[in-house]
Amino acid sequence: MKRRSQRRRVQTPGLLSRMVGAVCGRAQRLITAGPSLPLVLATYPRQNSWLAVEFSNSLRFTFPALTDDVKRGYRDALARVPSVIVAELRLANVCSCLGHHHPEVTHSPLTKSLQADTGGAIGEIDLAVRSIREWNPLPLAGLAAAGNERLRDSFEEVRFHAALLTVFLHELEHMAYPERPEDEIRRRSNRFFVDAVGELLGVQFGLASERSAQLLVEQPHFA
Ligand SMILES: [Zn+2]
Repeated sequence: MKRRSQRRRVQTPGLLSRMVGAVCGRAQRLITAGPSLPLVLATYPRQNSWLAVEFSNSLRFTFPALTDDVKRGYRDALARVPSVIVAELRLANVCSCLGHHHPEVTHSPLTKSLQADTGGAIGEIDLAVRSIREWNPLPLAGLAAAGNERLRDSFEEVRFHAALLTVFLHELEHMAYPERPEDEIRRRSNRFFVDAVGELLGVQFGLASERSAQLLVEQPHFA
């Protein structure tokens, strides 16, 4: 998934993170988030375990908190993807994309060996978690102006976890329907993001959904 505005400065952290990851090695975390989502094996640079913690939280807590109405658009794609997904978590990508799905020919040795061991299909994606956290299409000015730091931090966490989930589902849809055009997939993920954040804000802060939607659509969102 590409961001609409490509930011040059992301390239250096991406390169650095790959170098550090190569030196320090990677760790794995298995994420089970219920029957609606595939089993996810997250791999991450050992010194950045927060990437896996945040991603795990978005799958285990944010996804189940959403109503079926919001999730309906991904029901078919989720039924088609392999039941196990390897998610390579990074700080940033050199290309500045927020994530990619990996065609089978480019699968990592880890995914290939898992596939050989289990005999089942395994999917693979990457997610640039720090870039997803930094990518901030939503206006926070209103909340900041109100001087409510706690509310702003909570809002930021909701937005981050919804964004992680959105990019994850976006890449799974590419995997399920490789022939489907980017525009169509992006439209669905934009809609999902707006609906998800609106619904989560409504539950957590008691904001009316119309007001939440208004907060979101005033700015161009992602990518
Ligand atoms: Zn895409």
